Amino acid sequence: MPVSRMVFECEFCHVRPDHETQLALERQMLDLRHGEYLDAEPGRWLTWHGRGIYGAHRYACGNHRGELKAVLRETYGTIGWHPWAMGPHPWPGRKGTARGRAFRRLLG
Ligand SMILES: [Zn+2]
Repeated sequence: MPVSRMVFECEFCHVRPDHETQLALERQMLDLRHGEYLDAEPGRWLTWHGRGIYGAHRYACGNHRGELKAVLRETYGTIGWHPWAMGPHPWPGRKGTARGRAFRRLLG
């Protein structure tokens, strides 16, 4: 089955991510998160993984990540703490994978 390329765009300046950052964003799309920020390197993009009460996924380029947080805090700041999370927001890998569970066992 052909997989069409996801299109990511900064909602402020409508720039598209560079190739490496595009791949990072695509990997993160597979992850099921709710109300979390995630960084995508090397372009310093910021993704808001919304869902449910926190709305849709939102994207900002490295120049506008601060703007994205400001907008989200304005919109969802009274709902919960998630929009107020402080960076950085490194991607720890997919949640719930065998590798992740093995890693958690290792940490005890
Ligand atoms: Zn931008």
